[in-house]
Amino acid sequence: ARAQSMEITEKPAVGYEDIGGIDEQVREVREAVEQPLTDPEIFDEVGIEPPSGVLLYGPPGTGKTMLAKAVANKTDATFIKMAGSELVRKFIGEGSRLVRDLFEMAREREPAIIFIDEIDAIATTRSESKTSGDAEVQRTMMQLLSEMDGFEARGEIRIIAATNRFDMLDRAILRPGRFDRLIEVPEPDRDGREQILEIHTRGMNVNDAVDFADLADDTTGYSGAEIESLATEAGMFAIRNEREEITHQDFVDAIEKIEDDDSSEVVASA
Ligand code: ATP
Repeated sequence: ARAQSMEITEKPAVGYEDIGGIDEQVREVREAVEQPLTDPEIFDEVGIEPPSGVLLYGPPGTGKTMLAKAVANKTDATFIKMAGSELVRKFIGEGSRLVRDLFEMAREREPAIIFIDEIDAIATTRSESKTSGDAEVQRTMMQLLSEMDGFEARGEIRIIAATNRFDMLDRAILRPGRFDRLIEVPEPDRDGREQILEIHTRGMNVNDAVDFADLADDTTGYSGAEIESLATEAGMFAIRNEREEITHQDFVDAIEKIEDDDSSEVVASA
């Protein structure tokens, strides 16, 4: 039952070439997570320890999970994902137990990348009320940090965490020897959006006249995940019009539909 809250993938089907608009972040992740696995000697020779843990932070849907998967793919490591919210448990000791299971699983399957999404669920600052539930969450976090202390920096387990709420994080987890490498993953800029559109339409039957640069201009504020849904929606317009090829207009209609849906959501929640 415990394994159910973990997602384990032997070789995730994501490569660096599937990630658009965040080349600098890809470079940093490769240096901090991939290289210690593929080329540990260089760290010995230089005489430094690789980062213990890497924290990716930024808005939802920008490619944080993809980055972690791509490193696992590249290093032939098992990808083990757990959501921070899953680690928040009702019964005393249950959260810590899950953390121990997580690392045990990783040790059994070395090399492994442990990815903890929504780390803020167990690592937010709680200045005021110290309820018993909070104390339990605190213990779960302490267990995570002690597991991290326990494994060798040059071993074959790397840990990546992600959050959308960097400002709320308990700074204690960012100390040296903990999540001591921070990588911001921002929303894509104009060129980034163009790249992501190209990536997500690679397998689609797109008309030659589709102008990706133009579409990138019209999608300010879209995350990578939203650009992916835009591509799918454009495909739906083609199908609705009984065409096999997707036209520029299909993308324009898709943008309009997405924006209409968004504004009706605002009305609905107002
Ligand atoms: P969250 O913070 O909500 O967990 P995330 O940053 O981990 O989000 P991902 O799960 O990596 O986001 O992205 C969700 C989907 O959106 C991906 O599977 C991918 O299809 C698309 N996507 C997001 N960012 C990018 C990107 N930079 N390049 C290409 N596709 C992207």
